Amino acid sequence: MKLDIKRHHSLLADNTLALDAHSDFFVEIKHREQIPEAMDYCRELQLPHLLIGGGSNLVLVDDFAGLVMKMALRGITVKESIEEDIEEHFEGGAEGVLVTAQAGENWHQLVQYCLARGINGLENLALIPGTVGAAPVQNIGAYGVELESVFDSLQGWDCELQQWRSLNRSQCQFSYRSSIFKQALKGRFIISQVTFRLHRHQQVNISYRALAEALAQQELSCPQAQDVAATVTAIRQSKLPDPSVLPNVGSFFKNPVVSMAKAAQLREEFPDLVSYPHTEGHQKLAAGWLLEQAGWKGRVMGAVGMHDQQSLVLINYGGATGREVLALSEAIVSDISQRFAIELEIEPQVHQLCK
Ligand code: FAD
Ligand code: NAP
Repeated sequence: MKLDIKRHHSLLADNTLALDAHSDFFVEIKHREQIPEAMDYCRELQLPHLLIGGGSNLVLVDDFAGLVMKMALRGITVKESIEEDIEEHFEGGAEGVLVTAQAGENWHQLVQYCLARGINGLENLALIPGTVGAAPVQNIGAYGVELESVFDSLQGWDCELQQWRSLNRSQCQFSYRSSIFKQALKGRFIISQVTFRLHRHQQVNISYRALAEALAQQELSCPQAQDVAATVTAIRQSKLPDPSVLPNVGSFFKNPVVSMAKAAQLREEFPDLVSYPHTEGHQKLAAGWLLEQAGWKGRVMGAVGMHDQQSLVLINYGGATGREVLALSEAIVSDISQRFAIELEIEPQVHQLCK
């Protein structure tokens, strides 16, 4: 399948932070076989490659002297799974459903597609921007659910081994907002499709307090998956700045995970510290609270700043460069380190391959 490669392409519309970086070469991947073809092209011309989906978790620091591949593979298939396939995951065995989506499908449209067919499990992850293929990269999570809990397997092209591979859940090494694709396979593995283990039960997860409270206000006797998705969507729309109005990449920093001892020590000094139980012996601190305490909420530096309602969301107020974004985030990391002795980690992927 011929590659339709464009030259000197502006990535302004391809990243939700609206950074006007350019790539020397740009191609949309519409057919699976174009992935190895595009990699051959890079090898022949000795170009680096960068894969993007919806660009909602990217910081493009510089222009890119290589080939940007935009994932545009489409298609969703549903397999009403046989009992043996699924019984280890679902008590109701035969109600399990395997849904496979191509990597370029829009995430929220996949959530809606499933709900419209009575397939449940993705409802807490409604309205997360971006593509299906990027979802495993940071093990997307929201409102008490992480992707790994509904993940079955994925397929993709290993650029180093130059072959197609399937990876199961344990091979993906999922952890809090991370996976092998942010670690050992970073920049080396192109996810082409993802399979989810979903179900037709009406059991919903409303363990997240903000969600439980919003559902309680609706006085539903027994909330269904559709109610959860609609409520998550409404909360998100009321709280989060819309990237098409105020360009952003969602939370700019991960919530830091610290030892119980560190959390206890901080609580002595800061009795209002916001933290949640995490893995055994660890607490997750609300990064937004740390930023707010340090006075970063609503603070603007030139064309960039932290949102005045959501302290974790970095906004491009117009014409910002990737360098300005990094300068602000570095100032914040340094300040939080001095105040709380905590090293914040940037959540979006920073791409710094300059000419
Ligand atoms: P991109 O930004 O295009 O890419 C992100 C990274 O993944 C890059 O390193 C890229 O190279 C890599 N990548 C992309 N596609 C593939 C592929 N097919 N194969 C291999 N690597 C790939 N995230 C959450 O976890 N929870 C949230 O609740 C959440 N809310 C958000 C709200 C807003 C308003 C915004 C703007 C962002 C939010 N995010 C959230 C972050 C973001 O939406 C997710 O990380 C999303 O999965 C990114 O998808 P994308 O297609 O835009 O990825
Ligand atoms: P929030 O409800 O104001 O809570 C702030 C933080 O506290 C969240 O980051 C969340 O951690 C944590 N938290 C709250 N209640 C929790 C609980 N019961 N158990 C464990 N952790 C809890 O957060 P928000 O900003 O409005 O976001 C709501 C949800 O959407 C969160 O899950 C958040 O992760 C997700 N979100 C993510 C992004 C992104 O770009 N990554 C952007 C917007 C929203 P967790 O983040 O670990 O859930």
